Amino acid sequence: MKFGGTSVQDAQAITRVTEIVRSRLEERPLVVVSAMAKVTRVLCEVAEAVRQGEREKADALLDGLLERHHAVAEDLLSDDADLFMQTIVRIDDLWDELAVFVDEICGTGRLSDCDNARIISTGELLSSVIVSAALNAAGIECSWLDARDLVVTDENYLSARPDLEKTCENVRAAVRAEDAGVLLTQGFIARTEAGDASVLGFEGSDYSAAIFGMCLDAGRVEIWTDVDGIRSADPRIVERTCRIPVLSYEEAAEMAALGARVLHPLTIGPARSKGIPICVLNSHEPSGEGSRVCEDCSEIPEGPKSIALLTAEDARELRSRTIFDVGRKAQVSVIGKGIDAQKDRMVGLIRAVDEGCAVSLAESGLSLSAIVEKDLAQEVVNHLHNAFFA
Ligand code: ADP
Ligand code: ASP
Ligand code: MG
Repeated sequence: MKFGGTSVQDAQAITRVTEIVRSRLEERPLVVVSAMAKVTRVLCEVAEAVRQGEREKADALLDGLLERHHAVAEDLLSDDADLFMQTIVRIDDLWDELAVFVDEICGTGRLSDCDNARIISTGELLSSVIVSAALNAAGIECSWLDARDLVVTDENYLSARPDLEKTCENVRAAVRAEDAGVLLTQGFIARTEAGDASVLGFEGSDYSAAIFGMCLDAGRVEIWTDVDGIRSADPRIVERTCRIPVLSYEEAAEMAALGARVLHPLTIGPARSKGIPICVLNSHEPSGEGSRVCEDCSEIPEGPKSIALLTAEDARELRSRTIFDVGRKAQVSVIGKGIDAQKDRMVGLIRAVDEGCAVSLAESGLSLSAIVEKDLAQEVVNHLHNAFFA
């Protein structure tokens, strides 16, 4: 069960997480958490301040983070003085370690990728300490595991790739050694073989969850986020989207690679290698049905399922192979098996919004993509959505 940043963003969200986990206790879940919403972004700003030698700025950002985590711990744990104090001590230890490290390297004018990974790893450590305490406070016995002792990666510190064999050995041994009902660990963070900090790339907690699921032959991987499943478009762009009840691994991988940020693009591989379904669920509305990603089968209909938008900035973040030589362009894609049949219709629909633009379609059998003017991209997405899904 992986809970993303918005699902652990404050005390209320974490209380929802404890109830969702309670509903799964019989299945002995491994819980994976991201940093609280926006914390990784703030830690990136800390790293940037360190690089620039801006000590005061780094200190101010760090103070804000400490305050936020203290406040959430207090909201959740104030009824249990001992647990509250233990949690504050753990938060403070993690924070002190970070502050000392930042102090050491600030002023050297250098920030290696490994130092950067060490700084941005702190968010998951802090959130997981709080969620673990919240589970215990709610009467759910929970053991905290350090994902850095489990996930072994290469030395590509900021988008590290795991050694799956070693990682699986570690995960299985750690899980065997614990008999608590619930195990809790962090997404995103890892260590290299040499023991240095590394992370799996932005939004990488989904990928961590799939790796853990694969290592444990889990019955399913649940990705708990802030929308009810994988949808016909990003709800931040299109007002009325529809839920996709079931889609294939290939379709989900295609969507992720083409910019739908609901799943990290690498998440599919580990789950698929063991035929483990990925369920995308809404932590704000746990009774919703969400989406299931599984092997292609007759249950999965043909035709357009979703529209994705990719800008040059997203592409850099995703390290997608898509080439944008002009930042003013964006790529709009329609995804779904059997989509080729919609090619002429899609060209017509896009030209209706941006007549002058050269439409180039890339075909992979699962998607049709067009490069459009960035300023018109959201309108194109909405126009296509109205035509295909209204
Ligand atoms: P988390 O913090 O849980 O990892 P993310 O913000 O990474 O959450 O991913 C969830 C977001 O993905 C949603 O809020 C939504 O805006 C975006 N998104 C983009 N495309 C889609 C899509 N097709 N279906 C659902 N969500 C999408
Ligand atoms: N906290 C990390 C990030 O914001 C990883 C994740 O949330 O998936 O990128
Ligand atoms: Mg995410």
